[in-house]
Amino acid sequence: MPPLLIRHVRLVHPGREIATDDLLVREGRIVAVGSVVGEPPAGATVIDGGGRLLTPGLIDLHTHGVMHSLYESGPDGLRAAARELGRFGVTTVLPTIVPQIRDGWLENLAAIAAAIPSVREVSIPGLHLEGPFMAIGGAACPTLPGDLDLLERILAACGGQLAAMSVSPDAPNILPVIRRLRENNIAVFLTHTRASVEQTEAALDAGARHATHFYDVFYAPPETDPGVRPVGAVEAILADPRATVDFIADGVHVHPTAIRAAVAAKTWAGVVLITDSNIGAGLPPGVYDTPWGYPVRVAPETAARHATKGTLAGSALTMDRGMANLLRWLALPPEQVWAMGTLNPARVVGLTNKGRLAPGADADLVLWDDNLRPAKTWASGQLTYEKTHG
Ligand SMILES: [Zn+2]
Repeated sequence: MPPLLIRHVRLVHPGREIATDDLLVREGRIVAVGSVVGEPPAGATVIDGGGRLLTPGLIDLHTHGVMHSLYESGPDGLRAAARELGRFGVTTVLPTIVPQIRDGWLENLAAIAAAIPSVREVSIPGLHLEGPFMAIGGAACPTLPGDLDLLERILAACGGQLAAMSVSPDAPNILPVIRRLRENNIAVFLTHTRASVEQTEAALDAGARHATHFYDVFYAPPETDPGVRPVGAVEAILADPRATVDFIADGVHVHPTAIRAAVAAKTWAGVVLITDSNIGAGLPPGVYDTPWGYPVRVAPETAARHATKGTLAGSALTMDRGMANLLRWLALPPEQVWAMGTLNPARVVGLTNKGRLAPGADADLVLWDDNLRPAKTWASGQLTYEKTHG
């Protein structure tokens, strides 16, 4: 790969500042940030950014698919989705799979995990399994009690390619599962719950540190005294400084005020953007076939809905649109909002070389156009998307 010099861009340093500078990439890494005086390095590709924004690549911790592809469908679905992510500014993804316990599911999981090293267009630190140890199913998720034997079989199938597992703090026998995942350095996300404060705190004490699609499938515990508002997982997570949270920032799955409340509780550094996207995300408005036995109607302002019943059928958000929403909704300096799609998700899964524009970091970069759409995306220094018209 020849060196890449990007000149005259407004570099977003997530959480810190936005500064006009140049950036030099060699062998997939950022090697210098600052004004490059004189001639570019021999053989370098030189891009004049024209004062546009350059950010770290976006990192999506929770996404089931995009456009026409689903990660859970198998290695081909994984590879097809990975090819499309650059257009949305995504350079790192945790392909998210809801395990369906039926014949052959562990073999399918093993095949998807084994295909990860062959993906070049996006960095995949590992899979995110949404289940199976859940108290509340949500969208087609199994609800099993914590089971260390089953967990071992899942870990074996993933062959070291499991980055995160979502569990319910109120699933029976969940604490040994959380501890075992943490021993394997796998992030534990809390979700799909009606947990009490005590159950939630026990899960955090056992090593869970993050709540995913916060507010969605987070029910209040039952009311005990009429008029006394129940306090449960939502409040326990907001109150605990160890816990970070993520939101589907599409304006449908959660009201922007809940995101503002989380920022007030945790600062910008504790809030993460996800898409939870599915088939249809990133496609023009329309009706699309799915493998679930019904078509979905996709429109940006209403998410994805069952084409005839009108019920929510997943998210149609993409990370670039989610960032644009957050920049509009949150009265914060933009460099703090950008952290929610870059630095903060990198920290949640321990990716120290990602989410920042500094020497030594991976050259995962997005150059944005004036309408906040990706103009060019690089993953590990390799151009994965270039806008060709419009
Ligand atoms: Zn879910």
